Amino acid sequence: MMPQTTPAPVRVCPDCDGHATAAVSLGPRRADGTLPTVTVACRTCHGAGAVPARRLALAAAGR
Ligand SMILES: [Zn+2]
Repeated sequence: MMPQTTPAPVRVCPDCDGHATAAVSLGPRRADGTLPTVTVACRTCHGAGAVPARRLALAAAGR
């Protein structure tokens, strides 16, 4: 029996490979010992880690 080949409706984001957000440290630790960071979301999937197949096709066509 052949495996089901229907494409999944959602694909892992090609830009971030599913790692949609990254914590970027801003420098040395604060006086209280915490590390100042900002969370940066992937611009393609907006932090979701996956994109709908339709949007993925549109993104590929726009390049
Ligand atoms: Zn992404």
